[in-house]
Amino acid sequence: MRKPEQTLQALAVSPGIAIGRACQVKGGSWRYEEPVPRTLAAAEIEPEIARFRQALEETRRELSELQKQLKEHLNSSEADIFDAHLLLLADARLLRDVEKHVREEAQNAAFAFYTVIERYATALARMPDEYLRERAVDIRDVAARVLGHLNHERREAPGLDDRRILAACELTPSETAILAPHKVLGFVLENGSATSHTAILARSMRLPALVGVSHEVIEKLSVDDKLIVDGYGGRLILNPEPRTEEAYRLKAAAAGKLYSDLQRDSTLEPETRDGFRVELALNLESAEGLPEMKTVGATGVGLFRTEYLYLGAEGLPDEEAQFAVYKALLVAAEEQPVVVRTLDVGGDKLPGSIYFVPEANPFLGLRGVRLCLYGRPDLFRTQLRALLRAGVFGNLKVMLPMVSTVEEITETKALIAELQKELTAEKAHFTPRLSLGAMIETPAAVLQIEQLAREVDFFSIGTNDLVQYTMAADRGNERVAYLQQMSHPVILGMIDRCIRAAHKHHIWCGVCGQMAAEPLYTPFLLGMGVHELSMDPNSIGLVRRVIRSLFLHEAEAAVAEALECRTAAETLAVSRRLLERVAPEVISLLSSSGN
Ligand code: PEP
Ligand code: MG
Repeated sequence: MRKPEQTLQALAVSPGIAIGRACQVKGGSWRYEEPVPRTLAAAEIEPEIARFRQALEETRRELSELQKQLKEHLNSSEADIFDAHLLLLADARLLRDVEKHVREEAQNAAFAFYTVIERYATALARMPDEYLRERAVDIRDVAARVLGHLNHERREAPGLDDRRILAACELTPSETAILAPHKVLGFVLENGSATSHTAILARSMRLPALVGVSHEVIEKLSVDDKLIVDGYGGRLILNPEPRTEEAYRLKAAAAGKLYSDLQRDSTLEPETRDGFRVELALNLESAEGLPEMKTVGATGVGLFRTEYLYLGAEGLPDEEAQFAVYKALLVAAEEQPVVVRTLDVGGDKLPGSIYFVPEANPFLGLRGVRLCLYGRPDLFRTQLRALLRAGVFGNLKVMLPMVSTVEEITETKALIAELQKELTAEKAHFTPRLSLGAMIETPAAVLQIEQLAREVDFFSIGTNDLVQYTMAADRGNERVAYLQQMSHPVILGMIDRCIRAAHKHHIWCGVCGQMAAEPLYTPFLLGMGVHELSMDPNSIGLVRRVIRSLFLHEAEAAVAEALECRTAAETLAVSRRLLERVAPEVISLLSSSGN
């Protein structure tokens, strides 16, 4: 008997449409078992250490091979994900810690390695920042390989005889990479996020992917189940009716055409039909993504998340290491603006132990600029010195995350002035005028926006956190996901207030949270007079298309109407109505089928 069609909502992390049969894989091999501790006799200790080094060597060889294969299929920046994995294997502190454990505790290498790696990964998994949390998966992925070698296990890719949609509770980056792209149609996952490396790989393999599909659904899938993965609208359709399938085939064809048109349009100005321009910039987690800036026609980097630098194999980056990264980024950006955000981590530990005091509620704790000023001013000084020195090589702007008081800005400015004096005394080359901005992501910052505007050169609204703190709903908690309402009239009112204040004080205001990447919100941000929208490279084409489809007065009218609404659903209806008229191709991409 035919199973009934069922449509489920999920989070789209890689665009595209896949139609095909399911293949359930048992991924998540990082969920390795805790090895049994074994006490070593004195004579066993050195051979055990040699065995550990051998396991690292074998893992290194295996990963290099995987990277090589990946480079043959994909472009090099995605294969570079494995550079970070390889660096971890060469991490001097990791090796030292494990070997010390084996020697001092006289315990087997597998147990020692597991103990040390779990300490790293657990600290990362607790980070408030989603990007850093995802790195725990990477660390455990490498660790699973090392433990596998220590236990003489082999890991194989699932054998696929025909192209299938892979469904798994979890897939690690290396599991994703060993799957031959020509055997996979798309991914359906329970865990992960848009910034997980698995999602990044799916995007570069140009395979649609969904995350946030419930465990029960994935566990129940069988090979007979036909699926549609809608990586545009964030939907999973189980056992589609023939007419649904047909509608999606039409949608896939239309989307393919639209995306190639958008690629062709990447050289067109990001301006409305009556010439109002909005800068389109790129969010970057590492300098490797910079070449995308030209490909997608972005006019700068609107958010460079520096947290990534602090995850390097050799611990916290010193001034020279940071200077080299910022300088390279600025030089490569060729005078286009690059907004570097100072370290935004919470009151928890990184592998290099940024801060030692555990906090019951890190989201409300010593994170962002608070940590820099009051927890680790030494790190802040190092980062600001590196930025001041790099600033002479391009168009640098520096922004502070999680600002909630005026003093956080004035104290940072005093620190910058002090460092400039220090650099003058050292006869170092540095920028005497650093453009400084505040991220607006707390309600306190919005309520004091006029006062903040007098202190900074620009604002950048972090809507991910602004929504989290305004709605008092953890942005990573699925149970309150319904409250992540970027289009709530309260949120729109806050953003409007910030942009107005920026205009009044003659500074610029951008948006760098996820809201900037969603075409449905573009009319609102545009109508409020936003100066810059910064987002992932995949979203720039659609946002540009919406901007170019509108007259400014249409967007302004949509804002006026939305600000009178009571609910997020009502404001969304306003924008949807407008886009249905001016950019129907964008709306049909986001809707449930090609109809
Ligand atoms: C935000 O909060 O919107 C933002 C851009 O910062 P992050 O997502 O890194 O917290
Ligand atoms: Mg934020």
